[in-house]
Amino acid sequence: MSYPLTLPSTDKALLLQRHRNVNKNRPAAGLTPVGQPTGKPAGKMDALIMTTAEMTSIEMMRRLIAFDTTSRNSNLQLIDFVRDYLDGFGIKSLLVHDDTGKKANLFATIGPEDQGGICLSGHTDVVPVDGQDWHSDPWQMVEKDGRLYGRGTADMKGFLAVVLAALPKFRAAGPKTPLHLLFSHDEEVGCIGVRKALALMKDWQVKPAGCIVGEPTEMQVTTAHKGKKSLRCHVHGHECHSSLAPQGVNAVEYAAEIVAYLKQIGRRMAAEGPFDHDYDVPYTTVHTGVIHGGTALNIVPKDCHFDFEFRYLPGVDPEALFGEVRGFAEERLQPEMRRVAAESGFSWREISAFPGLNTATDAEITTTTKSLAQVNGTTKVAYGTEAGLIQEIGIPTVICGPGNIAQAHKPDEYVELAQIRQCEAFMDRLAARLAR
Ligand SMILES: [Zn+2]
Repeated sequence: MSYPLTLPSTDKALLLQRHRNVNKNRPAAGLTPVGQPTGKPAGKMDALIMTTAEMTSIEMMRRLIAFDTTSRNSNLQLIDFVRDYLDGFGIKSLLVHDDTGKKANLFATIGPEDQGGICLSGHTDVVPVDGQDWHSDPWQMVEKDGRLYGRGTADMKGFLAVVLAALPKFRAAGPKTPLHLLFSHDEEVGCIGVRKALALMKDWQVKPAGCIVGEPTEMQVTTAHKGKKSLRCHVHGHECHSSLAPQGVNAVEYAAEIVAYLKQIGRRMAAEGPFDHDYDVPYTTVHTGVIHGGTALNIVPKDCHFDFEFRYLPGVDPEALFGEVRGFAEERLQPEMRRVAAESGFSWREISAFPGLNTATDAEITTTTKSLAQVNGTTKVAYGTEAGLIQEIGIPTVICGPGNIAQAHKPDEYVELAQIRQCEAFMDRLAARLAR
């Protein structure tokens, strides 16, 4: 997969510096300021730490939730806040901006940069609250009956807050193995933002040896999720008065035939598989979510658009499924359409796509995360995350974070306080492990 590589010059300079320094196996001046712990005893290091107020996870959550980082907005206020917070502990951040310069991913390392270590990753954007019936202000976190309410509490600022609040512990531990942070943007609109950061990381000689994405799994360890491919089809018809219908090409009707065909593929996948019963939905699903067409009943509609998606199991080829749909449209329907109007037909555009995740249950990152989470088994989930993309650049990745996906994206989104406490204990054990 290829990604655009244009970076603001400051990002480029930082990246090159990091790369060069890592290659020479010595600390990267641009990323590891004086005071960065390098596994030396803590006393001297503490004197070098600049003053940053320590915050509890709950205080940090309150701060993060107050930034309206709906994907359509800039996330830079939140990123600047995190950068300044890290800076206060003497930890330098690498920002990777998008092409507009209004959004950024953040990458930072605590500890030595010449070893792999573990990366904690999450997205900073949230889904919109438009049209949702909230009982409190979604941007002001409210604690009630052991639950913390607010947009992003479960998906996934709760995790980010616990990670950030644990920073003093990670620093004090003087990790011998590095901890990396990778905070992304535009996850909720198709895992778009992180790709630029990963395109850079892909070529680093020293990459994180494993990654934990903190999407809500109720602190279970998830090793696999489905992949997704979503598309928009534009049906080009031919307009005329509806009383002369045979002289037109009805875009809505042809769209309906394809939507029905998609439904047939969905039924086939549900009936015939392939199956993996470790997933909550154990087969590949096909779904049409949006359709627009026509202007008035007495006009044969010229245009119709619809959006559809495949959420596929590992081993299922989404291109083959799309090829089947496209073949039906262009070989079965299009000749009939063109006999009436030569300009009629179909155009297709990919909306988004991300690969599935499929990490071995006996991979080192899996066993490490299981021991940190103190769980015995692993799970698989239907929803997508950035984990598949991270795995794709050669970093074994699992998902483990506080909260339940059932509360994500909904009004009155919440995370149980007990989940946050479990995540804090996870970070304590991780700090101890990295110090060894
Ligand atoms: Zn998420």
